[in-house]
Amino acid sequence: MKSSSVGFPRIGRNRELKFASEKFFKGEIPERELLDTAREIRKCNIVTQKNAGVDLISSNDFSFYDGVLDTAFLFNIVPQRYQDLDLSLLETYFAAARGYQGEKGNVKALPMKKWFNTNYHYIVPEFEDSTTIELVGNKPIEEYLEARALGVETKVQLVGPFTFLKLTKFVGTKRAEDVAEDLAKAYGKLFVELSGAGATKVQLDEPYLVRDLDAADIELFKKIYDIVTTNKSGLKIILQTYFGDIRDIYEEVVALDVESIGLDFIEGRKTLSLLKEKGFPKDKILVAGVVNGKNIWKNNYSKTSEIVKEIASVVSEDRIVIGTSCSLLHVPYTLESETKLPEEYKKHFAFAEEKLLELCDLSNLTDDVLAKNQVLFERRPDSVDEKVQARVAAIKEEDYTRLPSFEEREAIQKEKLGLPLFPTTTIGSFPQTADVRKNRSDFRKGQISKDEYVEFNKKKIAECIRLQEELGLDVLVHGEFERNDMVEYFGEHLSGYVFTEKAWVLSYGTRCVKPPIVWGDVSRREPITVEWSKYAKSCTDKPVKGMLTGPVTILNWSFPREDISIEESIKQIALAIRDEVLDLEANGINIIQIDEAALREKLPLRKSDWYSEYLDFAIPSFRLVHSGVKAETQIHTHMCYSEFTDIIPAIDNMDADVITFEASRSDLQILDALKENHFKTEVGPGVYDIHSPRVPSVDELVGQLSKIREKTEDKKLWVNPDCGLKTRGEEETVKSLRNLVEAAKSIREQV
Ligand code: GLN
Ligand code: ZN
Repeated sequence: MKSSSVGFPRIGRNRELKFASEKFFKGEIPERELLDTAREIRKCNIVTQKNAGVDLISSNDFSFYDGVLDTAFLFNIVPQRYQDLDLSLLETYFAAARGYQGEKGNVKALPMKKWFNTNYHYIVPEFEDSTTIELVGNKPIEEYLEARALGVETKVQLVGPFTFLKLTKFVGTKRAEDVAEDLAKAYGKLFVELSGAGATKVQLDEPYLVRDLDAADIELFKKIYDIVTTNKSGLKIILQTYFGDIRDIYEEVVALDVESIGLDFIEGRKTLSLLKEKGFPKDKILVAGVVNGKNIWKNNYSKTSEIVKEIASVVSEDRIVIGTSCSLLHVPYTLESETKLPEEYKKHFAFAEEKLLELCDLSNLTDDVLAKNQVLFERRPDSVDEKVQARVAAIKEEDYTRLPSFEEREAIQKEKLGLPLFPTTTIGSFPQTADVRKNRSDFRKGQISKDEYVEFNKKKIAECIRLQEELGLDVLVHGEFERNDMVEYFGEHLSGYVFTEKAWVLSYGTRCVKPPIVWGDVSRREPITVEWSKYAKSCTDKPVKGMLTGPVTILNWSFPREDISIEESIKQIALAIRDEVLDLEANGINIIQIDEAALREKLPLRKSDWYSEYLDFAIPSFRLVHSGVKAETQIHTHMCYSEFTDIIPAIDNMDADVITFEASRSDLQILDALKENHFKTEVGPGVYDIHSPRVPSVDELVGQLSKIREKTEDKKLWVNPDCGLKTRGEEETVKSLRNLVEAAKSIREQV
């Protein structure tokens, strides 16, 4: 059998793209140097995949910021306000991705959204009535030719037209249906050019097909693909789906005039049964996604070969291609960079590079390879902690409920905390400046003592508190200088986790995260954040908010175990964080924020599965964390992105006292929905976008707050940025927060 890697990490083996881009943004290197770095990365990726022996390798899986945005630029779908800046093409692209503030103007970035159920974020293209779809770019062609010059005949990877249209925001009167034909024809133009350049295969990524689709969606898909498949200029099309099964549109997809169809056998619960029940056309190739593109555990060859056998009962073996379940973008580059992780752990893992070898092993599985692989799946003894399992088993129904009720608590807290109307606060982290990162890394490398490390952080906390007092914020934070990352930090302090050094995964733009790995049963060894919060509190008379990450987010941003359920793992973590909450409270911290930034992220892509497969245990697990605190202790939570309009009752059911969330990049529709649903929790809809270095003016913030006030009760409204400030510079942070406090004061005067 042949093998296919659906896409490869583009950030570079050692995050070269991140470092070069950030230097370019700061004006420290010229465009040329950034382009050179990018070319080196692409070259390395192609050669790595070729040397591993993979048959089908993608070109054009590279991007400077995001593949959806690339597609928009390729087809001239660029809002006028970015074109009006009159910048170079690359700079216009970055202006749309990150916002622009400079001599040529001042515009916000396009909104960003989670890419399906991953922690990757794409840029939402915007379609104006004046937009004319037209093939204007040649990135796919250039990258195809570049790979060919290395002696590798690649499949050219493209975001598929259906998924692209479904993810695009139409801001004028036109709708997806109105422009579908133009877009499909523009793909056709691209095919002409690709074919002219010598390309033979394109991979059209259509992950949107795994969502719930209605009749109109299916119509739209058919309309687009009618045109696409009649204009393929001799190219062979791989219609690639991932992140689930395509139960709503299976028949239509297999009937398409394409060469290959890629299906996900890892997350697609029904993929195998669809295949068996509905069959698969004899003349087509199946790219069987059996190597998990999202998790880092070694593939269980015996289980996989069972699946492949079942597939082979429907599709003849010469028509099966062994593939990854999705792009390998979602796993780290290589295990080879892990020098500290002991071999007995490492042997259980496969990152992107190692997954290439799995593809090759599986496409030609020998008894010997199979036997060696089987040894890895015997029980991992040090993963079991009976005490933890017993504690989870002993959780009682009442442990999931906090008393007294929200309304009673709200009154008690208003009285006790004495905060002004529209209290101002931040989401937790302050800029992670070079000295902050150096302190942590020096400590990690043993170059400074624990005392020196702690002293430095205390100095930072004291400065941060002084700054917040000076700015006039109402609820202060300690600044999170001890944390590399909101999940990894907790992982490091919990038993049952293992860590990596370089296992970075792209989150958005140039930002990467390093998810820790849940290895076994999880528990808390000792208090984690208490000393930092206590110290911060000792620096001020104002309330200081303790800062924790919630169990759902910790698990969602870790690589989870595959030998126990997600539910079981989340409950173990919830109990560990519960201990931390109670310790903070016992130490006088009476406002505690438990971030659930990633709660929405793992919502099943299909609505029908939302509660039964996720929310029914995720929400109670959150309550388990805080149900033990006193009425006067105020529990905050924070979620990135306000895309929870459809699960508002579930969010209210988290029973937090305050929730802060992103609302600055998207419009304020969420607030209407909160009102309609009689949302009881107090809210802090972020008033400015922290993903961009742009400083919002007082007027702009007052304007934003006035709009928010039209939709929210004054007594429930908090004022805050939309997320943590750790990625921002100090100067812009101080300016922005100063304006934020000013804006809050100004609206207080209007009441
Ligand atoms: N408390 C975290 C911070 O401020 C929250 C980050 C997040 O939501 N992603 O950085
Ligand atoms: Zn956030």
